[in-house]
Amino acid sequence: MTKPTILVTGGAGFIGSQVCKTLAAAGFLPVAYDNLSNGYAWAVRWGPLERGDLRDGAGLRDVLRRHRPAAVMHFAALIEVGESVRDPARFYDTNVAGSLSLLEAMRAEGVDDLIFSSTAAVYGMPAHTPVVETLPLRPINPYGVTKMVIESMLADYAAAYGLRFGTLRYFNAAGGDPEADIGEAHDPESHLIPLVLDVALGVRPEIAIFGDDYPTPDGTCVRDYIHVCDLARAHLLALRRLLDGGESLTVNLGNGAGHSVREVIETARRVTGHPVPARLAPPRPGDPPVLVADCARAVADLGWRQERAALDVIVADAWRWRQRWRASPPVDAR
Ligand code: UDP
Repeated sequence: MTKPTILVTGGAGFIGSQVCKTLAAAGFLPVAYDNLSNGYAWAVRWGPLERGDLRDGAGLRDVLRRHRPAAVMHFAALIEVGESVRDPARFYDTNVAGSLSLLEAMRAEGVDDLIFSSTAAVYGMPAHTPVVETLPLRPINPYGVTKMVIESMLADYAAAYGLRFGTLRYFNAAGGDPEADIGEAHDPESHLIPLVLDVALGVRPEIAIFGDDYPTPDGTCVRDYIHVCDLARAHLLALRRLLDGGESLTVNLGNGAGHSVREVIETARRVTGHPVPARLAPPRPGDPPVLVADCARAVADLGWRQERAALDVIVADAWRWRQRWRASPPVDAR
């Protein structure tokens, strides 16, 4: 029997490539659709790469016709919050217009099932923590707005055209492939854990702590770091649910446990055995003091549980990849 195909937009990126690996291990053929603006050809190892842009509707339709996927997983997006503030037009174009183009191509080709990569940024500065899915969506930057708009598009397409979706709102995606085949390689990097590991490696001189006067136990911001492998398994469960005829759903994906910036730095010192010089810097505008997920819905509706939840494991897996990547960056076919 031939393997069912899944089209993975953004399949050359950090989370998309890990999901491709997980899909392949579960008996699917992942076809990555990526323009390589932020992803890497070397990260596409478990199925073919179709190089293309989301906004190219004709190209997308051609790919859907040729591969006849059972479902689409949609990761392709611009994700850097600061950039979204400086250049919102690009974000609306790539994220919103790109997703509309994808939905239209799916509708034209009769593909009804979509797993969508959303974000805790849709909640903005939530009034309650841990964050439940029923809180109002009040994003505070264009990036979060684009993801909220796409979520609305999915609901409207579901009501009008029979789309079925699984929207997964990630908190802080982190960690790395335990076999260090793939991992985070953003350029420029803005996320805490890879930056801290670069300091441990001596690639950067120090880590800036963005504020230590927040109403948290040690004064630094608390975030919910979720291992990319746990994320990937949740995607597989959400996919199976849709393919088995289950209802559309929207769930948070996090560890359910918060860790402060200082805790992350301490953990990196312990795990790597290297010093990590840190200095205090001004708070970053728009950073909520605490952002932690309530994951009860994902547990109940998907039967999902985190398997690599410990911060030590998350940092150790990210560290193994980061050392390898810095020592010999894979050559891209770009
Ligand atoms: N952070 C920091 N220094 C850095 C990068 C991030 O103190 O160089 C803090 C940031 O303020 C936030 C946490 O680390 O509280 C996680 O930031 P990241 O950018 O990784 O993810 P975000 O929570 O913004 O999605």
